[in-house]
Amino acid sequence: MKVLVAVKRVIDYNVKPRVRMDGSGVDLANVKMSMNPFDEIAVEEAIRLKEKGAATEIVAVSVGPAKAQETLRTALAMGSDRAILVQSDDEVEPLAVAKILKAIADEEQPGLVILGKQAIDDDSNQVGQMLAALMGRPQGTFASKVEIAGDTVNVTREVDGGLETVALKSPAIVTTDLRLNEPRYASLPNIMKAKSKPLVQKTPADYGVDTAPRLTTLKVEEPAKRQAGIKVGSVDELVDKLKDLGVVA
Ligand code: AMP
Repeated sequence: MKVLVAVKRVIDYNVKPRVRMDGSGVDLANVKMSMNPFDEIAVEEAIRLKEKGAATEIVAVSVGPAKAQETLRTALAMGSDRAILVQSDDEVEPLAVAKILKAIADEEQPGLVILGKQAIDDDSNQVGQMLAALMGRPQGTFASKVEIAGDTVNVTREVDGGLETVALKSPAIVTTDLRLNEPRYASLPNIMKAKSKPLVQKTPADYGVDTAPRLTTLKVEEPAKRQAGIKVGSVDELVDKLKDLGVVA
């Protein structure tokens, strides 16, 4: 079974984002960028399925600027077999990403598409679901366990207060949750090997997808600054302060 994995280049999760002075968005100048953490989990899961003999080939796909090649090289160094970069310097919204992935899936005919449950930059949580709808195929979102049995993909999902297991007929779409696995680090020899793995470059136009934005960001604001704390000498003083602040009656 061929597995397609979608990986997005996003601002590194350790970086504290800075909002541009004019509030038009997040300042990405000189900011460390990395693979979206949920997509690392997606790549790791595909590799584990290949190691178990359930997957035959892993194709990593990214939609983004030329620099997203680095993200794809990371996916290759972790263990993906080949990569496709769909290059666009504009911000590509979830629907257009889903349409591009659908066009690639039509060409590649994977048995399974694995995506992150959300990109940590736009927090949309949309692409996997939209892709499943566009492909008319079953989806298992927020996966904490994935098992393949013949042409069935069993997905255990993290739902409110528990777990639900669903069976999907392949080709299926799975989105990863945090507890699915712990992604491996790429070893130095594998980073070197990844440099010679195939990476093809395409454009959204090659797939007939219009990436013109459908929404306009009106304003981006930083979270409110936290007030400095104060020290109190006793529980009574604490209760008085909380009463003053109206936190307790
Ligand atoms: P989102 O719906 O934007 O929160 O993204 C959900 C998942 O879709 C991500 O974790 C990725 O697996 C995939 N995805 C989103 N945007 C891109 C992109 N530009 N290139 C590749 N995959 C993407």
